Amino acid sequence: MAEIRFDIMTLFPEMMETILSESIIGRARRAGIVEICCRNIRDYSQDKFRRVDDTPYGGGKGMLMQPEPIYECYSAILHECEENAEKPYVIYLSPKGRVLTQETVKSLAGKKRLVLLCGHYEGVDQRVIDEICDDEISCGDYVLTGGELPAAILVDAVSRLKDGVLAAPECYENESLASGLLEYPQYTRPFSYHGREVPEVLVSGHHEKIEAWRLEKSLELTKDRRPELYEAWLQAHPPVEKKKRKR
Ligand code: SAM
Repeated sequence: MAEIRFDIMTLFPEMMETILSESIIGRARRAGIVEICCRNIRDYSQDKFRRVDDTPYGGGKGMLMQPEPIYECYSAILHECEENAEKPYVIYLSPKGRVLTQETVKSLAGKKRLVLLCGHYEGVDQRVIDEICDDEISCGDYVLTGGELPAAILVDAVSRLKDGVLAAPECYENESLASGLLEYPQYTRPFSYHGREVPEVLVSGHHEKIEAWRLEKSLELTKDRRPELYEAWLQAHPPVEKKKRKR
């Protein structure tokens, strides 16, 4: 049985399949660690022209996704769940949602089954969101044409935390944001490139000095680029007071 399963409700299942069949996620799927099922919401439309959208009440430009096909699609997913299985956690990808962070990714990676709803056009009728969704998540403070790319981001970020997807847990444990700091700069061969050399400490073989250098660089970078993360890190890691020597 897979470590985690995603059911993605979308109008563009082929687009999702293309993104999620490649590279590390594609390998994790083939290895049976991650299961992903993309469903075309249009297949659940009762309309003879397979319509899934209509104009918004109250007027305004654009179209809205209707509630019924989405609800029918969701019901089909539930129908396929094993009896007594935990209800899947349902997320609507939306610019109005809470912005996805590594903390949220970590907590979602603790779930067995996630259902992702990708909106399109002007979005989705509020009633079906209220009825089936547990959460609304945004991939950032900008607006895209659809929820497919945000869904792919979520699947990728969550999947790579599951056992067996990356070579070893250290691959994500030491990364940007995992510790609350941005990652230190990294270098590989050649030692000298276009007149720039790798910092000497990294070839010193002195493990402690390397760790100290990396932490220093992480702190510098985080302070410069993400002062709010830097402040939070300082709060969580107050300097240890040196013990006063007894006379
Ligand atoms: N009218 C909506 C609003 O102002 O909030 C925007 C709709 S957007 C054009 C269409 C769909 O793209 C949304 O239903 C959502 O699923 C997806 N989407 C767009 N931007 C997103 C973001 N930043 N994060 C997650 N989903 C997004």
